Amino acid sequence: MKFQSPDYVRSMAPYQAGKPISELAREYGLNEADIVKLASNENPLGMPASARQAMLAAVSELGRYPDANGFELKAAISSRYAVPADWVTLGNGSNDVLEIAAHAILQPGTSAVYSQYSFAVYALATHAVGARAIVVPARDHGHDLDAMLAAITPDTRMLFIANPNNPTGTFLPAARVEAFLKQVPERVVVVLDEAYNEYLDPALRFDSTRWVREHPNLILSRTLSKVYGLAGLRIGFGLAQAELTDLMNRIRQPFNTNSIAQAAAIAAIADDEFVERSYRLNRDGLAKLQSGFAALGLDYVPSHGNFVLVRVGNAGAVYEGLLRQGVIVRPVGGYGLPEWLRVSVGLPEENDRLLAALSQVMSRAG
Ligand SMILES: *Cc1c(COP(=O)(O)O)cnc(C)c1O
Repeated sequence: MKFQSPDYVRSMAPYQAGKPISELAREYGLNEADIVKLASNENPLGMPASARQAMLAAVSELGRYPDANGFELKAAISSRYAVPADWVTLGNGSNDVLEIAAHAILQPGTSAVYSQYSFAVYALATHAVGARAIVVPARDHGHDLDAMLAAITPDTRMLFIANPNNPTGTFLPAARVEAFLKQVPERVVVVLDEAYNEYLDPALRFDSTRWVREHPNLILSRTLSKVYGLAGLRIGFGLAQAELTDLMNRIRQPFNTNSIAQAAAIAAIADDEFVERSYRLNRDGLAKLQSGFAALGLDYVPSHGNFVLVRVGNAGAVYEGLLRQGVIVRPVGGYGLPEWLRVSVGLPEENDRLLAALSQVMSRAG
C-alpha cells in the first residue's frame, strides 16, 4: 500500500445504498419512468409542496453562507417539540448527527454497544473513530435490551438503539425503553434513533423528549428523510441536553446543513397535513404488502416502519429477478440476513407491481 491509513479504516466496508433508478435504467436498458424503487425507505409521495415553495424562495440567497447556527430552524424545532433551542443539533441528514455524536464521545480504546441487525451506520460511525464495536445478538430480529445492558463494559461510552429499527421494522414499547434508560450508567451516552417515529400507530406513540429531560446522557435522533419526504436534501437533527449538545457543536462542520435544507425543514415540520397523509398511505400500503407476502407463503417481520423485511430464500436471485422486471428492493446480506429482502412501502400501484413481480419471480425460483 502506498498510503498509510489506520487499520480501522482499512477494515471498514463502505455503506451499500439502494440502487438508484438511473443506474438500473443504464444497466438493464430500461425506461426510468417504468422503474419502481422500493429500496431506500423514501416517502413515495415525494417532497411536500410546502417545502418545495420554501426551497424556491431560499434559492435567491445561495450566494451567501447558510446560518451556521441554524437559528430559525432550531427555533422551529424548539417550538414544535417544546424543547430549548440549545438542545438542538442540526445534521446533514440524521446520519451526520450519528457521526457527530460518535466523534464527540468515542475514541480508540473505547467501545460502543449496538444490536445485531440494527442500522448499518452505527457500525460505520463506531469504526470510523477507531472504537470497538460490541454487537449484541438480536432477539426476534429486534433489540434485546437486557443483553445490551449486560454487554456494557468499563470502556463503553456509547450505545445505539433504533426504534423502530431498520432493516427489521421491530419496535420497543415506550415502557421498555423507559425502564432501560433508567438502568444504563449515566457515563454511557445513549443514541435513540427515531427515524421512523412518525409512522408509529397513534396508540404506540410516546413523548421521548421527556426522557431527554430526565437523562443528560440521551441523544434523540430525528430525520426529515423519511415521512417528511426530503431524503435528497440531507437534513436531520439531534435533541439532547445542553452539555451533550455543546460537545457535538464543537465537532460538527461549521456549515453542515445548507440554507435550502434549513428552509425546507422549517416548512416540512409544520406540515401536519402532509405527515398525516403520508402516515395513512403507509399504514394501508404496509397492510397490503404484509398480507401479500402471507398470501405468497412468505415469512415477514411485522413492521412498524415504512418497509418490510421478507424472507425469500435465495435473496440474491430474487433481487436480480425483480431488477429485471424494473423493481428495485434492498438486499440485506450485508446485515447477515442473506435469505431476506427489505421492501419499502410505495404508492398503491407500486406495491401491486412489487407483489406481482415477486409472485412471478418466486414461482420461477420455486
Ligand atoms: C434512514 C435512517 C436514518 C436517517 O437517514 P438520514 O437520511 O441520514 O437522515 C437514520 N436512522 C435509521 C435507522 C434510518 O433507517
